[in-house]
Amino acid sequence: ETKRETRPFEAEVSRLLAMMVHSVYSNRDVFLRELVSNAADACEKLRQKALSDPALAVESGSLAITITADPAARRLTIADNGIGMDHDELVDNLGTIARSGTRAFVESLEEGADSNLIGRFGVGFYSAFMVAGRVEVVSRKAGAAEAWRWTSDGKGSFAVEPADPAAAPERGTRVVLDLLDDAEDYATEATIERIVTAHSAHVPVPIALVLEGGLAEKTLTDGGALWRKAKSAVTPEEYRAFYGHVGHAFDEPALTLHYRAEGRTEYSVLLFVPSEKPFDLFDPERRNRIKLYVRRVFVTEDAAILPPFLRFVRGVIDSEDLPLNISREMLQKNAVLDLIGKGVTNRLLSELAKLAESDKPAFEKIWTAFGPVLKEGLYEDPERRDALFEIVRFRTTKGTMRSLKDYVADLRPNQTEIYYALGADEKTILASPQLEGCRARGVEVLLLADPVDAFWVRTALGYDGKPFRSVTQGSAALDAIPRAEEAASTEAASDAAVATLGARLKQVLGDAVSEVRPSTRLVDSPVCLVAPEFGPDRHLERLLAGREG
Ligand code: ADP
Ligand code: MG
Repeated sequence: ETKRETRPFEAEVSRLLAMMVHSVYSNRDVFLRELVSNAADACEKLRQKALSDPALAVESGSLAITITADPAARRLTIADNGIGMDHDELVDNLGTIARSGTRAFVESLEEGADSNLIGRFGVGFYSAFMVAGRVEVVSRKAGAAEAWRWTSDGKGSFAVEPADPAAAPERGTRVVLDLLDDAEDYATEATIERIVTAHSAHVPVPIALVLEGGLAEKTLTDGGALWRKAKSAVTPEEYRAFYGHVGHAFDEPALTLHYRAEGRTEYSVLLFVPSEKPFDLFDPERRNRIKLYVRRVFVTEDAAILPPFLRFVRGVIDSEDLPLNISREMLQKNAVLDLIGKGVTNRLLSELAKLAESDKPAFEKIWTAFGPVLKEGLYEDPERRDALFEIVRFRTTKGTMRSLKDYVADLRPNQTEIYYALGADEKTILASPQLEGCRARGVEVLLLADPVDAFWVRTALGYDGKPFRSVTQGSAALDAIPRAEEAASTEAASDAAVATLGARLKQVLGDAVSEVRPSTRLVDSPVCLVAPEFGPDRHLERLLAGREG
């Protein structure tokens, strides 16, 4: 009796695979990083599970990744002695798309996104099919007697069957790639060593290389924890490679933050701010992806250590003080973790503020990618609002990347408020007659075109003692600022004539308006709509009413 079963891949997986096979793809190297990263994750998961299940305990230093190359057979094997997968896990994990970001990526490709992005993005296990015509995965779950074999040629379906336990790994997973004709290079020592050094050098599990019929085992990396090293002992290349590993990323980090905190609680931090937006930045879950370690042992990626407005930050935090067997409930509410979260958040914000001064182009990159996310903090985290006010940058009527400090430094005589205009985009805002009053007085206006803007600007009390004021709201303070010369010279109608016109307009418009009054704000336009001084802003009104803003 044979227990072999064949199953189709989930539709998205098939699409992903088809793209990988058919695209002439420039950077196929990424497959090795993905498979090594899975092997390392599996080892760390075992170490983590052993904390609560002593039967799974492994000798320290015994976890390892072994890459075996057989150039003659054109075969490459990546083996780990980590957690392993049982039958159902093989079917679920290697037949569907695990990462929600990957799913979003596949969907965006269907809408016409550039398929070359695939290389920057990394697509996990399935990237094996970029270099292999056939992939075999033999796995034995830690503690299990039976082992399973998963095989596929990547063309729509895969098969799962029991594997001979004697020929299977004692524990963990072996991924065997039968390389395509044009990918035989990946079974050579030089190529493997080059890729591992570039992309996986600081995976926290040691990696060894075995050349079939050649050398005995050669150590490629020692699995040391990079974040525990002194800053002076780490090169920029090492940081970049580690960022690629923890961030699943291919861009350059825009900011690297590496330090050790001592005091009420001790921990090491190695964090990165990417220079490019990840695909799941606006995922409704808004999860952060900081890897939490306790004394070098990986614990979880699910602890919400940093606030949602910093969810684009990637990296590792390693605590000295948390218990190793920390439970899910403890992760939800834990004083040490809170302290770490506060400390790291403050440090990140002050580093961003420093960068904004010391390296404007680098900061501008970060702001362009993540500004709208950072601004969520302005209304979600009032405690951090002042720190965030030092970081936020605006497009204004006076330029781009203007800080609130710049704004306040350029106030007009008598100006006591910070003026802003909300809208769907900057072009629409700039065309609005609402700006005329400010323009005529040479007063700078913040152009707020991100959806979050309508929310924070209402709750923020002000900056440097100056309240925020919408240009659509009436403002006596604005009227008190003198107009620039040229603008004041328009022929004035008599007060009586203006009053008559106003009364007539109110009569015609009836309840559609609450008041019609003469204004000194307009220059070129005859009329504009304003919101009452203490009512909601007009743009916000429209957002709340669910209409286009
Ligand atoms: P990701 O690693 O982002 O979850 P992948 O496509 O790389 O996505 O892998 C999918 C899933 O397959 C993993 O989450 C993991 O559960 C499982 N997996 C892959 N490789 C291994 C391995 N070597 N050992 C154990 N599980 C693995
Ligand atoms: Mg993976």
